[in-house]
Amino acid sequence: MKRKLTANHIFSGKEYLDPETVLIFEADRLMDKVPLAEAGDEVEILAGTLLPGMVNAHCHLELSHLKGVIPCQTGLVDFVLALMREREMPVEKIEQAITDADHRMWNCGIQAVGDICNTRHTISLKMKSPIAYHSFIEIAGFPPAAAETRYEAGKKLLHEFSSRQLNASLTAHAPYSVSNALLHKIDYATGNGIFSIHNQEVEEENKLFLNKEGDFLWMYSEMGIPTNSFSATKKSSLKSWLPFLHQKTSLLLVHNVAIQEEDINFLQEWIAATGSKVYFVVCANANEYISGKMPPVEKLIESGIPITLGTDSLASNTDLNLANEMNLLENRFPLVDITQWLKAVCDTGSKALLLNDQFGNLTIGKTPGLVQMTGDKGRREIKRII
Ligand SMILES: [Zn+2]
Repeated sequence: MKRKLTANHIFSGKEYLDPETVLIFEADRLMDKVPLAEAGDEVEILAGTLLPGMVNAHCHLELSHLKGVIPCQTGLVDFVLALMREREMPVEKIEQAITDADHRMWNCGIQAVGDICNTRHTISLKMKSPIAYHSFIEIAGFPPAAAETRYEAGKKLLHEFSSRQLNASLTAHAPYSVSNALLHKIDYATGNGIFSIHNQEVEEENKLFLNKEGDFLWMYSEMGIPTNSFSATKKSSLKSWLPFLHQKTSLLLVHNVAIQEEDINFLQEWIAATGSKVYFVVCANANEYISGKMPPVEKLIESGIPITLGTDSLASNTDLNLANEMNLLENRFPLVDITQWLKAVCDTGSKALLLNDQFGNLTIGKTPGLVQMTGDKGRREIKRII
């Protein structure tokens, strides 16, 4: 079916188009962009802003059955311990929650997702979903002695995804949950490809690396994980782990709540030295849920390092809806223009997931999806049109 669509504003994924532009779709393919005067009849004129289908750069779809299970604002260590206690459930229930969450994301205008996987639970959904997923097969293991077995288990899970033609790669969970030996193996296996890591989600992570103190030590003892082979680096978390990585085409740093200005400078130097591309992934509602703290958004923007948005999981968010992420950010950082966040969920997000040849922009001949944003600052609503 052919549709001709225009609205008060049209955002290409990167910038606003002439408001008199009409987008012509044939089924889900963008066929043309023409001036209103040349569009002929049957043009649908919509309220608000039209933009391409959006990118959720960080999600854990396999945790969708944990919606509302873990209390808010307990801090990261209690959150992680509760997650490990609660994540078991009959597999049918887990898969149903995954399917429901995928439908919800699609209806909320999400076209592509960077999804963290520790299990095979999302495989059957991903094989039929209209959403394009990049599955990050996550590996964790704090004692260096566990590096080999954890790495081999990760490779096996990766094969389960890639043998079904699903887009997937290995990745590390977080600086506080991987040994140097394991990080080295994952870095080597990913070559100069894509890599995602939870970075400096809470200040406790810096305390661990600076002085081998803080809540993470208590977490390891609760989990029965030995810490004798770990020594303080006397540096922040980022400065401790980043030098282990070689050049990456896309390095996604997720959370960054406890990143400092000197970490950002260090990161800039690493980018210049390695020729890597780095993206900050902001998951505002998840940070609010877990710790009640926000990342230093103005400093992240000032750095010039591109920013994308993620929802994280339903274990730490009430919905997988990027409109909610933009609303919280608009309320907390009112001086930041909405254009910053629109670009984050379109052009930047698609580049971060290496999917920008298909998504995140209104390019003729592609099938980018089309969504409508209505509502005022901090109270945006987004729904799918195509
Ligand atoms: Zn996460």
